[in-house]
Amino acid sequence: MSSDILTTPLQFLKGVGPRKAADLKRAGLVTVEDLLYRLPFRYEDRSHMQPIASLRPGMRAAVLGDIKSAHLAVTRRRGFKIFHAVVGDTSGAIRCTWMNQPFLTDILRPHLAVVIFGDVKLDSTGLHFMNPEYELVSDDLEGVRTARIVPFYEKTGTVTPNMQRRLVWGALDQLPSAIPDLLPAEIRTRLHLAARRAALEEAHFPPNEANVEELNAFRTRAQRRMIFEEFFLFQIGHAWRRHATSTELKPYVPKVDDRIRAAAAKILPFKLTPGQRQAVKEIVDDMRLPKPMHRLLQGDVGAGKTIVALLAAIVAMENGLQAAFMAPTEILAAQHYGNIARLLSQSRFRVDMLTGSTPGLKKHTLYAHIERGTTNLIVGTHALVQEAITFHKLGLVVIDEQHRFGVAQRAALRAKGLRPDVLLMTATPIPRTLALTDYSELDVSKIPDMPPGRKPVRTWVKPESRRDEIYQLIREQLDAGRQTYIIYPLVEESEKIDLKSATEMADHLQAEVFPAYRVALLHGRMKQDAKDRVMHAFAAGQIHILVSTTVVEVGVDVANASVMVVEHAERFGLSQLHQLRGRVGRGEWESHCILLYQAPWTDDARERLKAMSSTSDGFAIAERDLELRGPGDFFGTRQSGLPKLRTGDLVRDRDIMEDAHREARTLVDGRGLSGDLLEFVQRRWQDQFGLIEVG
Ligand code: ADP
Ligand code: MG
Repeated sequence: MSSDILTTPLQFLKGVGPRKAADLKRAGLVTVEDLLYRLPFRYEDRSHMQPIASLRPGMRAAVLGDIKSAHLAVTRRRGFKIFHAVVGDTSGAIRCTWMNQPFLTDILRPHLAVVIFGDVKLDSTGLHFMNPEYELVSDDLEGVRTARIVPFYEKTGTVTPNMQRRLVWGALDQLPSAIPDLLPAEIRTRLHLAARRAALEEAHFPPNEANVEELNAFRTRAQRRMIFEEFFLFQIGHAWRRHATSTELKPYVPKVDDRIRAAAAKILPFKLTPGQRQAVKEIVDDMRLPKPMHRLLQGDVGAGKTIVALLAAIVAMENGLQAAFMAPTEILAAQHYGNIARLLSQSRFRVDMLTGSTPGLKKHTLYAHIERGTTNLIVGTHALVQEAITFHKLGLVVIDEQHRFGVAQRAALRAKGLRPDVLLMTATPIPRTLALTDYSELDVSKIPDMPPGRKPVRTWVKPESRRDEIYQLIREQLDAGRQTYIIYPLVEESEKIDLKSATEMADHLQAEVFPAYRVALLHGRMKQDAKDRVMHAFAAGQIHILVSTTVVEVGVDVANASVMVVEHAERFGLSQLHQLRGRVGRGEWESHCILLYQAPWTDDARERLKAMSSTSDGFAIAERDLELRGPGDFFGTRQSGLPKLRTGDLVRDRDIMEDAHREARTLVDGRGLSGDLLEFVQRRWQDQFGLIEVG
């Protein structure tokens, strides 16, 4: 067989008939490549046979011996059969027992040579193996399962791990010594990665001197090569797309001069932090380039992303361009509008707000202003770009708190023939590997610091039964003039119940616990103007305790609030808890975040709450969240653009993803793509990585 063997259907392998081929196909294995790129999920060292006399209880061991005797016993319980065999070597003998596998009588016959592998147990009758794995030595001439480091495969459908082992062995046997390799040799050498042929061989059947621990951590040269290959090919596709759109030009390219710098400085109510200054510089540098900006601004809750975006908007507006500022909820849009309008009140720019609840007549007037260009900055919800609005000269689009959908909205803009600069902002710190995976075409700016004077928030994890202490703390804070949030989870299936408990809690707190203070309720089902009234009253300090479902999650800014109580904290994800905690600690006072849980809680919940009380670094929390939840769930129910992966693991192999991202960008930006790699990207990338849609 030629090197084409990799694309050969499995049916053409020795020992695979049409029937088995159909089974394999159902398990997603069609070609030899499919088979070889499904790596074992763990390895066991059976290269060292233990003398039977050296076995001790609790060992996991392999022994090689002859079957001295065997018999099938039937217990009194009807139909329950136990197969016993005694296996002996030159040092001694040991009993092996298998439950309910009567067919073993026909396989493990006396005098045959056999390898037994399993856990050594001790009971009243002595040492024995219970349900061990076995392999007759006579049909194991190639040592597929025993006397070596043995690979274990995930069972898929009717394809058993054993079957896979044999098939892989057979396929490798027929693989020519030289096979094509998409990885550039230079990169391979520099990163000390194995050649493709050797990597395939050794990732499945490692040489006996390989380190089993290293194998099970997926860090041998062969495994790293396989994982790097997958990540690199994935990143090459992104790098290529980024490269290809880099020739797109935007219709208006802003300029920046001293006059504009002065105009921007004039609206600044405070001194920027070094992190903010750096972010502004990176954004403005992008805006001055002829190609549209596509940048993600990451910064923890309260890091001060809004002002950074507003400065970018000033640059656009000073150049005669319009800016659109979009937020995920009407509350947030209203808050942005309020802040921005205040900051720009002395400027000559007109700021308007347009949301789903803007009355029809007003909407039409606004449309006209936007079309004529008399509206310089329009604030709204994410629907803004989807609506039938014609802009006069749209230069910048800022999308707040919606990193994921930002990508879709950018596509919507392009579909309308608009190519403005796009700035996405997120306070959900995205673990680096996911950023590299999901947004690898984006440029990323980070605000790593916080505005000065922030006091860290003290975090308490308390059982629900200690509620009274919490009320005491809230009372002290209220008496000192502060305000409190109490958050209820809103789980979709039980939305009504949760709403009911939030409502009852608000009533109870008002009537019985804090009659001297004003308690109000905020939830997603309220009409917009009712929500706005409550939020405004809370911001103005007229409401002291805000009982809310998670609608306040993102972005709300009330510096006087110093207590955040999260009810049923065990139900919230780590990133969400972090967001909620970010609502407090925004003023000059010490703040408290109280995570109330209701037993029983899961191990995961315990881990999450522990992580919350041990760190306040959003990026560290995001990494932990990713570890706990896995990449598929990280973005919750939002759609996500995670690739289908065969060998790599986004959590385990993050360092390799870093390398792959860097190498792919360097290669594509440096000398572009040609030959096999170009063909791969154009013809096979989509098929191989097609994005997983979650939710
Ligand atoms: P986020 O990054 O979460 O969107 P905001 O932009 O809402 O944060 O900013 C949080 C608060 O910090 C706001 O009240 C804002 O006015 C204030 N702020 C932002 N940057 C600074 C700074 N450099 N110095 C002082 N206060 C700042
Ligand atoms: Mg914000």
